[in-house]
Amino acid sequence: MASGNLTIDLDALAANWRALDAMTECETAAVVKADGYGLGVGRVAKALAQAGARRFFVAVAEEGAAVREALGPGVDIFVFGGHMRGDTDMIHDLHLTPMLNSLNQLTRHFESLPNAPFGIQLDSGMNRLGMEAPEWAAVRDIVLPQTPVLVMSHLACADEPDHDMNARQLATFRDMTDGINAPRSLAATGGILLGPDYHFDLTRPGIGLYGGLPFADAQPVVHLSLPVIQTRDLAAGETVGYGNAWRAEQPAKIATVSGGYADGLIRAMSGKATFWHDDTPCPLVGRVSMDLITVDISHLNQIPTHLDLITPQQTVDDLAEMAGTIGYEILTSLGPRYARRYAGGFAP
Ligand SMILES: *Cc1c(COP(=O)(O)O)cnc(C)c1O
Repeated sequence: MASGNLTIDLDALAANWRALDAMTECETAAVVKADGYGLGVGRVAKALAQAGARRFFVAVAEEGAAVREALGPGVDIFVFGGHMRGDTDMIHDLHLTPMLNSLNQLTRHFESLPNAPFGIQLDSGMNRLGMEAPEWAAVRDIVLPQTPVLVMSHLACADEPDHDMNARQLATFRDMTDGINAPRSLAATGGILLGPDYHFDLTRPGIGLYGGLPFADAQPVVHLSLPVIQTRDLAAGETVGYGNAWRAEQPAKIATVSGGYADGLIRAMSGKATFWHDDTPCPLVGRVSMDLITVDISHLNQIPTHLDLITPQQTVDDLAEMAGTIGYEILTSLGPRYARRYAGGFAP
């Protein structure tokens, strides 16, 4: 079998949820958008529910359907994207809770599903989703008596604790919501780490659950190992891969592993990332191609069956930094070709 092995440690996932939960006095939800940050939303959501999460957030209604299918009734599923045209049946039939972002969405929701639960998303300065202060001021006396189940906003710079944007958004969110009788939420992973002022009634961690920064104390959740398909010996002066991008300065042994940019191993890793054979680093050489990557294993004493790319030695964030991106993008790009294996106490 030539597809890579993506192992997901559900015990570590659950431990990360509990660790983030223990940092606050309030309720901790779980953000499972983008197929559980690329790890498989069904298994991820079940493990988080078993750990104690009762509220789940997704980006769009279709993702909410997958969470409802995995978890059944008894949990709340919130949709950040709100109530879009065409979502009404799904919201109603699957008991999803849209976070209403605009007057347009408020009108659509109240007209089509007058008694269905809803939340409100406010824009406290990020200028991405949610109602802005004047819009909110105009409708809040109509909306609040309909008892939104949650009023939330999102921080733009929470991964930079010293950024003054954090305090500004906190002040704006307070201005917009102090005194209302609905539960409030401001913090994702970064906001939890900013401290109790940011916690309100509910936190919404995503990346920290999956082992990513800014939750530096997270347990690693993901392990990625790629099978070696073939090895070959190169004479000094021979080149490897598209564009002859790497040249052997001296005789070398090259392993070709199965995996490439079609699997989310982005081309920006070319010539930069490192594979691991147990504790021995093996440099990626040449360009990442669609399905294959070439690795210099000249210094190994034996031919490995697999080479590891995401390991405790080289986390998702280490790899992201080499490729000039963030852990979120590496995780959510992990492709459908990997065999996803679920390890840990919650695996069957
Ligand atoms: C993605 C997202 C989260 C989770 O953020 P993390 O940084 O992954 O913890 C929370 N709230 C909103 C609105 C989001 O879009």
